[in-house]
Amino acid sequence: MSGGDKLDFEIRPNPAPVAAAERAALLVDPGFGRVFTDHMVTIRYAEEKGWYDARVEARAPIPMDPAAAVLHYAQEIFEGLKAYHAVGGGVTMFRPEANAARFVSSAARMAMPALPEQVFLDSLRHLIEIDRDWIPTAEGGSLYLRPFMFASEVFLGVRPAKEYLYVVIASPVGAYFARGVQPLTVWVSPTYTRAAPGGTGAAKCGGNYASSLIAKAEAAAHGCDDVVFLDAVERRTVDEMSGMNVFFVLDDGSLVTPPLTGTILPGITRESVRALAERAGRTVTERAMSVDEWRDGAASGRVREAFACGTAAVITPIGLVRTPDGEFTVGDGGSGPVTMELRQQLIDIQRGAAEDPFGWVRRIL
Ligand SMILES: *Cc1c(COP(=O)(O)O)cnc(C)c1O
Repeated sequence: MSGGDKLDFEIRPNPAPVAAAERAALLVDPGFGRVFTDHMVTIRYAEEKGWYDARVEARAPIPMDPAAAVLHYAQEIFEGLKAYHAVGGGVTMFRPEANAARFVSSAARMAMPALPEQVFLDSLRHLIEIDRDWIPTAEGGSLYLRPFMFASEVFLGVRPAKEYLYVVIASPVGAYFARGVQPLTVWVSPTYTRAAPGGTGAAKCGGNYASSLIAKAEAAAHGCDDVVFLDAVERRTVDEMSGMNVFFVLDDGSLVTPPLTGTILPGITRESVRALAERAGRTVTERAMSVDEWRDGAASGRVREAFACGTAAVITPIGLVRTPDGEFTVGDGGSGPVTMELRQQLIDIQRGAAEDPFGWVRRIL
């Protein structure tokens, strides 16, 4: 069936899955993105057929022609989300509809076809079902799902491709902070920007990451964990980090986060933090925050805390900020109370340890 909102998935179980003992050994300390499950989902798209050939099959290399369009012009998008063993039993996901919707908008920006949101959700459910034994049971562990789509058409001309491959792979991951939450030291890059107005900053595309790697290397060369990108026009206000959005906590308990003007990835964690903070009676203002305001505010006590947020690390405090003109500490350089409170509330909802007043959690199994 093509063009509709539902596809029938052909399920072909892996004839040679990883043995249970080996899987158990791999799940002891999986790290991030190193260990993969037995299966993957693939769905094809052709302009004249729409979406077709949906499968769950053994995870395997993807044969690719050297002239596949993605290898030349980078038409590629992805998503990232987690499945958990919920505290009260069952396997859950956090706001997967939001990832499905963002996948559609990323596709639109990259001139790619929209994968129906229901097909996206079904693809995740199928993979979780067949690879359920790979979901870590250790505290803080989860099954990280990586849906992605790329231009598979064999053609070197510059235009949107007419054929695509959608794939979902899954990777068991451990707790991000195995030894307790560590505040980040961040580098404000004077050299590189991430996204300009009118560019691809709001799309979750691989290209944004390719261009951020050199800035992360610059950050590492300055002894920093990650990079803070400034707006590309004036190089004055904070946009976001390479894979996380940023919040500031002011002395009146309110929060500030940069607005979604097209240069920032609309994070689902960002949106969830905003809802949680507002429920707790905090004001959340979307406005530009300059590095000058951040530095002066950190010195005066007006800016008490800052944190980064995204699916992988949930919420991570920012302790120290390095710029070419010197460095400054946020708060006492540790993990601030508002940051840690929001972090715990979000994790508790995600894990099913607290009630879910927003209806964010989806039970899959
Ligand atoms: C994925 C991503 C985020 C975080 O989004 P979540 O939906 O919260 O995981 C933030 N910034 C960038 C650049 C991203 O790619």
